[in-house]
Amino acid sequence: MREYPRRRVVAALRGQLFSLRNQVRAGRWALDEFQQRLHEVPRQVREGLQVQLAPSLRRVINATGVVLHTNLGRAPLSPAAIDRMREVASGYSNLEFDLSTNVRGRRDVHAQHFLKQLLQVDVALVVNNCAAAVLLALNSLAEGGEVIVSRGELVEIGGSFRVPDIMRKSGAQLHEVGTTNRTRLSDYVCAIRPQTKLILRVHRSNFRMVGFAEQPPLEELARLAHKNHLPLMEDLGSGCLVDLSSLGIRGEPTVASSLKAGVDVITFSGDKLLGGPQAGILIGKKKYFPAIQTNPLYRALRVDKLTLAALEATLNAYLHENERNSIPSLSMIFEPLERVESRAREWISRANRELGENLSLSMETKKGVSVIGGGSTPGQEIPTCLIALHSKIYSARALESCLRHHEIPILARVEGDRVLLDLRTVRKDEEEEIIRAIGSLGDRTHAKAQSRQGKQDTQSKSFLRSK
Ligand SMILES: *Cc1c(COP(=O)(O)O)cnc(C)c1O
Repeated sequence: MREYPRRRVVAALRGQLFSLRNQVRAGRWALDEFQQRLHEVPRQVREGLQVQLAPSLRRVINATGVVLHTNLGRAPLSPAAIDRMREVASGYSNLEFDLSTNVRGRRDVHAQHFLKQLLQVDVALVVNNCAAAVLLALNSLAEGGEVIVSRGELVEIGGSFRVPDIMRKSGAQLHEVGTTNRTRLSDYVCAIRPQTKLILRVHRSNFRMVGFAEQPPLEELARLAHKNHLPLMEDLGSGCLVDLSSLGIRGEPTVASSLKAGVDVITFSGDKLLGGPQAGILIGKKKYFPAIQTNPLYRALRVDKLTLAALEATLNAYLHENERNSIPSLSMIFEPLERVESRAREWISRANRELGENLSLSMETKKGVSVIGGGSTPGQEIPTCLIALHSKIYSARALESCLRHHEIPILARVEGDRVLLDLRTVRKDEEEEIIRAIGSLGDRTHAKAQSRQGKQDTQSKSFLRSK
């Protein structure tokens, strides 16, 4: 326990002794049982300290096959992005310093330099996330006025981002037009009034509308906006820069196509299909940006140097036309089915070799699907090859729970009486850890069976419940 400060050890020890004393007072134990409890105190103190001093944000292994899993931190960063973050973080940088003129500089310039080249735009700004980008743009361009939005686009994105709510917070008045399923250009035409400040298009990034549905093409909306001297803004959400059609994925708009259609201000995320750090990116036509850049909200929503470092490295991969190889989320999305399949087969034979038959676990490959997730390509899937685990001892729920309670938590799907692992979202060097986790299953049952009482056991019992 030398690794812990004395003060903490003493406090933890006092806590344990306090509860022990209370149990004795209540007359719960015979003497020999009390002595046994006393022996356990050092271990309990150590475990207690471990829990207290463990970081709450932990690395996990994502075997769910959801590539941009919002609950699991969306896009994993590329090695280049991590190198740049380390380099910038470990010392000083020219974050707001102009090295050529020796005066104070602006932090806007950093990722802007790459975004402008990549997307052929006049201006680009980076803020904390896409929700912040939308709030900032609406507040800068439409505060005190009206914003026209189709009723079919008043969407909610996970984590309580709702278009009407953001609109209210921005100080702009929402002017809804059309119906849930159909909005025509004429609906927009009728809604334009002197107090109209902006037309907003929101990408339906996490659901699909099928059947009797209609919305005007972006080009027509842009033409209408410009005829009335209004900006057209589009909240794209994902901000896809690559063509996904080779995967059979249709309808995910690219940033380039929105620019081509004539949209004036576009907002998208840094950590969705772009594959970089959490960030919100605003791009578009120059004339709309002074209002955004001088808004005090921009200062409040700005990003730190680490985000800029990671974002620059991510964008650089696109500029080198190397994004599919170097950006992890894109490599996962584009990994051919045959590769996932052969990885799954190899994994199973390695697991069988290393674990033997003692777990009475059957492992086989199974056809399935991965999804991109993270508010993109709703309802569309990528064929994958799953590993299906089935145990004669544990229920699928118990097996899943064991994996989730592993030292490096492993997250998997459960389907019926099987646990499904999708290696598409698992890094090659993480594969071994899953085998280790399954291997420790036997040990853990044994260990838990030895200590049957106490608070911890109610937890462990539920996660190790047999069928
Ligand atoms: C995801 C998404 C957002 C929010 O993006 P964050 O980067 O998570 O803040 C906003 N709008 C749309 C359309 C989205 O898909």
